[in-house]
Amino acid sequence: MDPVIIIGNGIAGISCARQLRKRSDVPICIVSEESPYFFARTALMYVYMGHMPKRDLYPYEKSFWKKNRLDRIQERVVEIRPEEKTIVFQSGKTQTYSRLVLALGSKARSLPLPGSDLQGVRGLYHWQDLEALEAHTPKLKQASIIGGGLIGVELAEMLHSRGIEVDFWVRESSFWNTVLPPEESAIINRHIESHGIRLHLNAQVQALQGDDEGAVSHVLTADGKEVPAQWVGATIGVEPNIEFLKQSSLETDRGILVNPYLETNWPDVYAIGDCAQQKNPPSHRRPIEAVWYTGRMMGETLALTLAGKKEAYRPGPWFNSAKFFDIEYQIYGQLSAQADPKNESQIFWQHPSAAKLIRWSFHPETRLFLGVNSLGIRLRHEYFHNHLLAGSTIDQVISGMQAAYFDPEFYPNYHPSILKTLNSY
Ligand SMILES: Cc1cc2nc3c(=O)[nH]c(=O)nc-3n(C[C@H](O)[C@H](O)[C@H](O)COP(=O)(O)OP(=O)(O)OC[C@H]3O[C@@H](n4cnc5c(N)ncnc54)[C@H](O)[C@@H]3O)c2cc1C
Repeated sequence: MDPVIIIGNGIAGISCARQLRKRSDVPICIVSEESPYFFARTALMYVYMGHMPKRDLYPYEKSFWKKNRLDRIQERVVEIRPEEKTIVFQSGKTQTYSRLVLALGSKARSLPLPGSDLQGVRGLYHWQDLEALEAHTPKLKQASIIGGGLIGVELAEMLHSRGIEVDFWVRESSFWNTVLPPEESAIINRHIESHGIRLHLNAQVQALQGDDEGAVSHVLTADGKEVPAQWVGATIGVEPNIEFLKQSSLETDRGILVNPYLETNWPDVYAIGDCAQQKNPPSHRRPIEAVWYTGRMMGETLALTLAGKKEAYRPGPWFNSAKFFDIEYQIYGQLSAQADPKNESQIFWQHPSAAKLIRWSFHPETRLFLGVNSLGIRLRHEYFHNHLLAGSTIDQVISGMQAAYFDPEFYPNYHPSILKTLNSY
């Protein structure tokens, strides 16, 4: 019997393989070019910073794969022939499949700048990106990061932790202000700068300059600055890693187009995780959501279908979390950076001096609770998830707020002040 082949051993592919194995005896083969074993991509930074050894990136013992009969092949797939149900490896070998799961993930977007192909200009996504950065680190005095998102700020923290001076070039007028409302964004601007990172807002990088050996040496800006940089982190976002499929008959847009069952237009071929693009995303969800937990949910959902119980992907309320140096950020539900007052009212509480803030959003007429975000204060996922599912009002959410803090030590400090703010609305 031909195996179920999963291309990609990231969180999406591995969640699918594990759940399918729990439910079925079918042969399963996982193919990935990047690494022989699944690892926690989100923790790459901690290896570089020396907070964890490389071996701790791998959540499963090597024996796990054999015991669960999950075959692994470390190779690049260069072609898929859906009419023959065959994948073709770079080595020229082929392998037939019964069903095929594309869990190809993302890749860093390249900088649209002259000089972006110089040595030392690189994104941070794959294991090989970390290795390249590690190999260059002893030679680095100054680095630049172009693009102000979550990976950019992680890279800033990483480089800073190794004593490298960092210039952080951000096109927007405030850090990540397409997602963060102004007060949150301002807190993060100050926090980044407080670590000695030179944050350049409204920045226009024009080109990268190299030395005689073809390695990057300077960042050139539109206003005439020439800033030394022996490493340039390209962090202007990620895109689905689907280049080799673009000329095929697989339906793609930015990602691989899928229906709610994660099916592509090719029979018995599915796509999950960062590379999948929902043709009709659920309301208030984006067609591509390149985050860890959505990859896991898609993988687990698809495993049910592959095991014979056809299941649609229903992600439920949105949530996400991140860290900006020492400040934790969480979001549950919808909350706009610039709320349209017709559809969204917001209340926010901010600590007068510490970097702590909570903001709630709700519908101005119905008072339906829409979402919440926080900086520097950990909130309980279940509390907000349940309210969002139940369709609670903002008043119901507020009345139980003391149950919403993750860290009970927090309650005596800030809850009275938070209540005062909430009660004044
Ligand atoms: C530095 C960093 C920090 C992050 N932090 C967070 C975070 O805090 N929270 C969060 O929610 N998300 C975070 N993310 C995003 C999150 O890691 C991704 O959304 C998630 O890992 C994607 O999982 P995936 O399984 O879809 O794909 P991937 O993990 O990208 O796995 C896909 C695999 O498929 C392989 N592959 C692709 N094409 C082929 C081919 N043709 N042949 C063979 N193999 C192939 C790739 O090499 C790769 O190994 C972070 C990402 C990065 C880079």
